[in-house]
Amino acid sequence: MNVPTETAAKPQPWGSGRPYPIAARWYERLTLENGVTRFWEPHVHPLEQANFWHICGRDRDLLIDSGMGIVPLRPSFPDLFGSKEVIALATHTHIDHIGAVHEFEQRWVHEAEARQMAHPSGVTTLVCADIHPQLAALFVAAGYPPFDELLIDAMPHAGYDPRQYRLRGAEPTHLVRDKDIIDLGDRRFEIIQLPGHSPGSICVWEAATATLYSGDLIYDGPLVYEGPGMDLDIYAQSLRRLKAMPIQTVHAGHDPSFGRERLVEIIDTYLRRWGMSDQVQPA
Ligand SMILES: [Zn+2]
Repeated sequence: MNVPTETAAKPQPWGSGRPYPIAARWYERLTLENGVTRFWEPHVHPLEQANFWHICGRDRDLLIDSGMGIVPLRPSFPDLFGSKEVIALATHTHIDHIGAVHEFEQRWVHEAEARQMAHPSGVTTLVCADIHPQLAALFVAAGYPPFDELLIDAMPHAGYDPRQYRLRGAEPTHLVRDKDIIDLGDRRFEIIQLPGHSPGSICVWEAATATLYSGDLIYDGPLVYEGPGMDLDIYAQSLRRLKAMPIQTVHAGHDPSFGRERLVEIIDTYLRRWGMSDQVQPA
């Protein structure tokens, strides 16, 4: 039942509870059907609290994005990251998607963000004061919790110094383009370049299961479409292309997964908000 409230509770700034507790564990993981595992970092501010995805293949595995890199990822999950080859693919190069990419031998990204992966810029620390105040205000207006001192609300272990954290770049070892195929032996994924959130944003499409790994192009939370490297016209065009695809499941870069109905609802909501048509425009 939907009960209208006079005033919504004002969200508390993220991480304002002092002293910072020590997290019982840093990563959460959820095993889905079909050899897919979802990871996330619950103690990271929701703006930067990304999902990343491990997909088990016959010959090699695929890791789509890799979180913030606050705690080493590979040694945390020896059952998934053993001796088998892993392709660490970044949907784009924001801090919450490439943090642990340096731990992997195979580091794949779209060619438009190759330099950004090697030499990250923008948000590269855990200190909220390093986020441009105008940008921070935009994020809060969009619906994210206010910022306090840090982008985390707990420490990964005793003695951790969050001010020493820096996003570590890594040279990509392979550059992907639109329509490239990633073959894991028994399952195939197609790269779809869908820019707007960032110039080299890609989605990963598994046609056999009608599943899209969407990165930050679309998720079931406040979309970030204003900021450095973002372009609203291009973003809208990418959303229209998504709507035309036979997608049944979206595993997104943030927030819970969703199905086709919600996908269409989110796309229509944003296109309407931006005053844009939902018809694919000729290139
Ligand atoms: Zn992003």
